Amino acid sequence: MKWKEQLLSLTPYQPGKSIEEVKKQYGLAEITKLASNENPFGCSKAASDAMQKDLSFYALYPDGYAQELRDTLSNFLKVKPSQLIFGNGSDEIILMIARALLSPGTNTITSAPTFPQYKHNAIVEGAEIREAPLKNGGFDLDKMLELIDENTSVVWICTPNNPTGVYIPEKDLIAFIEKVSEDVLVVIDEAYCEYTTAEDYHDSVKLVERFPNVIALRTFSKIYGLASLRIGYGIANEKIIRGLEPVREPFNANRFAQAAAIAAVGDQSFIENCKEANRKGLEQFYTFCKSRDLKYYLSQANFILIDFAADADEVFQYLLEKGYIVRSGKALGFPEAVRVTIGSEQQNAGVISAMEQYLKDQNDRN
Ligand SMILES: *Cc1c(COP(=O)(O)O)cnc(C)c1O
Repeated sequence: MKWKEQLLSLTPYQPGKSIEEVKKQYGLAEITKLASNENPFGCSKAASDAMQKDLSFYALYPDGYAQELRDTLSNFLKVKPSQLIFGNGSDEIILMIARALLSPGTNTITSAPTFPQYKHNAIVEGAEIREAPLKNGGFDLDKMLELIDENTSVVWICTPNNPTGVYIPEKDLIAFIEKVSEDVLVVIDEAYCEYTTAEDYHDSVKLVERFPNVIALRTFSKIYGLASLRIGYGIANEKIIRGLEPVREPFNANRFAQAAAIAAVGDQSFIENCKEANRKGLEQFYTFCKSRDLKYYLSQANFILIDFAADADEVFQYLLEKGYIVRSGKALGFPEAVRVTIGSEQQNAGVISAMEQYLKDQNDRN
């Protein structure tokens, strides 16, 4: 086979371990998965009810234009229906952007460590990827500006950043976009925007109105609790959406995802409750980290990156055997930290107690 040469360097995405896998391997009855930033409270009941109603439609294709979901979000966000694009998860919109704008001879800019799909898709398309190291856990926008040249097509920004949870203040983000040429697409991946509480977190609808070269990516996988359905969306100027449409598969957003998402948008009180529980959950972790002198980043998302100043895989393994699946920072660019999704109050207390035991065992050993 004449595979694209750049594919040979890529390894498949390594997801967090599944609950079933861990149960079997360690003979544990109860497992708590805090590895993939899923919503510990599931989804709105309105969303699961909406899916049940749609069960007679297995044989039919979904609405390829997602008209009803489009209208729902258009009303909710106060943007035109033509300013939205849907994906099989926002992952797929990242893929569409790469497919539409990146090719050999172009380059693309981001910071690192961040969400790996920007780089992955850039490599698949044969584009050059340029990464500015993070500064205090956040994107180094000044360094990124220096990396831009006439062959740059796309700039990827993740705010709050995965895996640190650090966000970019609105004024810094705007100052950056103002300096980027209008023929470069600025992608703002805000998968965790609904969790943010910082007053100077940007408003992407305003950014999109003001700048013709910005697309904001959002998802129903995180606070909306619909990760298994695979649905995300992009908000941009109509011209950008029109540019992306040719690379979108005709029926990429499935019927159940559309039905659930429509109902989920209608239940904002569920979202408010999850946001508040998450804020309190973060406090549980901050209190623990402070009491144990562990370094961490203040997070605007539903996860926290905790530095154990120890081999991350070892911490991961210890917690796993206690029934808690977290994410080792090894594969995330933080070899001495673990990323923990904020769970329910009880789940947080449980994993914190397992972490306390880890630290105690370490102490006893030394
Ligand atoms: C989870 C996540 C996504 C992907 O979300 P899907 O909609 O499930 O594909 C995108 N970006 C970031 C930063 C994420 O953490």
